[in-house]
Amino acid sequence: MFALIRPPCDTIDAVSTTTHTDAADPEWIRCESCDGAAIASGYCLAHADGSELEGLLRDSGPVDARGTTLTAEHLELILEALARQPGTGEGQEPRRSLLLTRSTILAPLDLGSIALGGDLDLNGASISGDVILSSARIAGRVSVSGVSARRVRIQDSELGSIVSTGGEIESIYVYLCRVREGLHLSNLTASGAVAVLNTSFGEAVHVSRCRAGEDFSLTHSPIAGPVHFHDNMVDGEATFEGSTFGSEVSILDCTIQGELRFGTAIFDENLTVYRSSIGGCSRYTARRSKVTTSISASARSGPRASWGLPPSSTRWV
Ligand SMILES: [Zn+2]
Repeated sequence: MFALIRPPCDTIDAVSTTTHTDAADPEWIRCESCDGAAIASGYCLAHADGSELEGLLRDSGPVDARGTTLTAEHLELILEALARQPGTGEGQEPRRSLLLTRSTILAPLDLGSIALGGDLDLNGASISGDVILSSARIAGRVSVSGVSARRVRIQDSELGSIVSTGGEIESIYVYLCRVREGLHLSNLTASGAVAVLNTSFGEAVHVSRCRAGEDFSLTHSPIAGPVHFHDNMVDGEATFEGSTFGSEVSILDCTIQGELRFGTAIFDENLTVYRSSIGGCSRYTARRSKVTTSISASARSGPRASWGLPPSSTRWV
């Protein structure tokens, strides 16, 4: 990988790595009855008694359920408490984080329209079903590194950023969201699709060393920062149609079994496709491009490949 185009993700990796500690030596004080984080009186959220739990959930600190096994009833209590926190009204700012790091959730995790002033941390969590955010407001980071879940579905939500540095899921679907910062996906394996649709990003989108068992889509999305799509395997199509790219776009070292498509995308900076194998027809019909598009001769396209690029803006490297 060239230094020039290497995603600036070292800091994200470093932060995420520190949250994964050995089960025998968790970074939290353990509950007296389990490996969950003790929140008061030595017990975790699942083992605290009802009145104690009520009091704790009224507090203003993070809701800490790290390493804790939670049922659907526990989740309901937590969500009710978060819905009552100060700052959840219209035009107000909530303050809390929800930490479910390495927790075991014995139900689908439907967080609905949750409002958090901090982060939602699902790193290493094991969830029996889907993760769903719908009309959520999360000012901080949504972390799903190493999560074990069926599908991750985030729609109509305002988020600080989305990060996953690993894990195995069925699919991830982000739709109609506004992300203040960026999207960072690495070492993530999806047996199905990875789809980001109609979602705006204020900063970069990095997708690296990921595998999509079906299509990868980043479509109809305005992205202010660079887009790095590096070292990925896509068993279906890779489509970037209708998106607006405010900075460089690079596709490097990827294997795409189906088509690679940029139909009606807008590029303000360079598009580079380099050292990639593209199985199907490749289509490029950008609406506006003031850029030099570099397509390496080593980007091998299928027999029907047609880039449709304006000759003056294409540089073969
Ligand atoms: Zn416990």
